Amino acid sequence: MNPDLAIVGAGPAGCTLACLLTQRGFKVLVYDDAKRPELLVGESLVPATVPVMRRLGIEERVAAFSQYKPGVSFLHRHGTRIDFNFGPIAGALPTYAYNIPRPQFDDLLKTRAEELGVSFVTHRAELVKGDNADRELQLSTASLAAAGLTDHPKFVIDATGRARHSARVLGIGADKGERADVAYFAHFENFHHDFEPQGQVVITILDHGWSWRIPLPGRLSVGIVVHKDAARTYGDTPEERLDHALRTEPMLKEHAEGARRITPVMTYTNYQLISERGHGPGWAACGDAFGFVDPMLSPGLFMALESARLMDEHVFAKGPAVLDSPAAMSAGFAAAELELRDWHRSWRDLIRHFYDGGIFSLYETGTNFSKRFAGWPGIGWLERHMTRHIASMASGAFTRRRYSQELVKFMRKHMLRECRAPEEYAVRPQI
Ligand SMILES: Cc1cc2nc3c(=O)[nH]c(=O)nc-3n(C[C@H](O)[C@H](O)[C@H](O)COP(=O)(O)OP(=O)(O)OC[C@H]3O[C@@H](n4cnc5c(N)ncnc54)[C@H](O)[C@@H]3O)c2cc1C
Repeated sequence: MNPDLAIVGAGPAGCTLACLLTQRGFKVLVYDDAKRPELLVGESLVPATVPVMRRLGIEERVAAFSQYKPGVSFLHRHGTRIDFNFGPIAGALPTYAYNIPRPQFDDLLKTRAEELGVSFVTHRAELVKGDNADRELQLSTASLAAAGLTDHPKFVIDATGRARHSARVLGIGADKGERADVAYFAHFENFHHDFEPQGQVVITILDHGWSWRIPLPGRLSVGIVVHKDAARTYGDTPEERLDHALRTEPMLKEHAEGARRITPVMTYTNYQLISERGHGPGWAACGDAFGFVDPMLSPGLFMALESARLMDEHVFAKGPAVLDSPAAMSAGFAAAELELRDWHRSWRDLIRHFYDGGIFSLYETGTNFSKRFAGWPGIGWLERHMTRHIASMASGAFTRRRYSQELVKFMRKHMLRECRAPEEYAVRPQI
């Protein structure tokens, strides 16, 4: 039987949307190109992913193969250390997240979708320009045939991730981010990581970039994100470049001594992209296919799940009949896209405070104030208030809250005292 709707891409965005739609009575077919490299980025999650896992009924299964993540620590090359734990977000969200082996997480989402009744076809789908005004984009004849379809589904979702299949076919441009970084990463054994509490993700701010350490069961994921000109000076191959950073960066080399790389090194470039348009007659883009801001603070997986959730809330909650109402579909997607853009802008602004050094200057100011005015009324409250808002923004709870956003801007503008200037803390944009 022909599906109501086809989703291209069985990653987190595609499978989450498939689950939500099937729960609402839609007949859904997902095209899965079955590409699950041994390694995939997207291993460190924010707490805002947990409510979606619960809604899909998979949290216990995720917990069984993942590492509990209590927070994130930032270590700066100047010696400043900021420990965020998710405790202060109690009441807004679960006070933890997970570090996930990505291929297993994607497999679980697919299994869950199958349990709920989603159909899958193993095929790298091709989207082409539509042949009538109600269908700006459609599956190619070969892709229809690969799934045994005799007619076009009423709607197509592009969940192809950074392939951005719909944008490429329709020539839709993108708002590119301000950084020109490249990321290299791999999994290691015997990498020295005795960080407490267990599961804490560690971000190290280096001279021309930053590095992540994400504890996973039995291994450590280690990545560097550096300006591409700097990367060229590290060696010719991805292996040489990652190896060079781990041998020479003062903040990494003592931890890396004796470590054994147990996977190939993966490379990611040009990932800061937000599409100028995310939907049209007969189609919409979900997850990275619509946009991705930056890996600092790990918003990607959450945004993939959230974009599926927003489409569900604004469009598909009306039930399968909505597919016969182009006006309702268009209005719903416009509303979902408005929210998505606000999410992306909010993450981008927050992440910028980390790249440009402002968060570190604020933290240093706060620490100095607390020492100098220890015991003064209000000082402890102010520190807790700031910490709660920054932790809540980074967890996905208050990311879009105007009050939290303005609070950080106000404090940066008026309260920085007796600290290094943000420029000294900044990740340098280029060499
Ligand atoms: C350097 C770096 C580090 C990152 N670290 C993190 C992190 O720590 N935490 C985090 O949350 N996020 C992180 N991200 C982002 C995260 O990986 C993505 O946001 C997330 O994977 C998006 O999910 P998605 O489902 O939209 O796309 P994807 O995960 O890319 O899934 C798309 C799927 O579609 C398939 N596909 C593509 N074309 C076709 C086709 N034509 N037919 C059929 N299937 C197709 C692909 O094979 C894939 O399975 C990072 C990103 C980068 C670049």
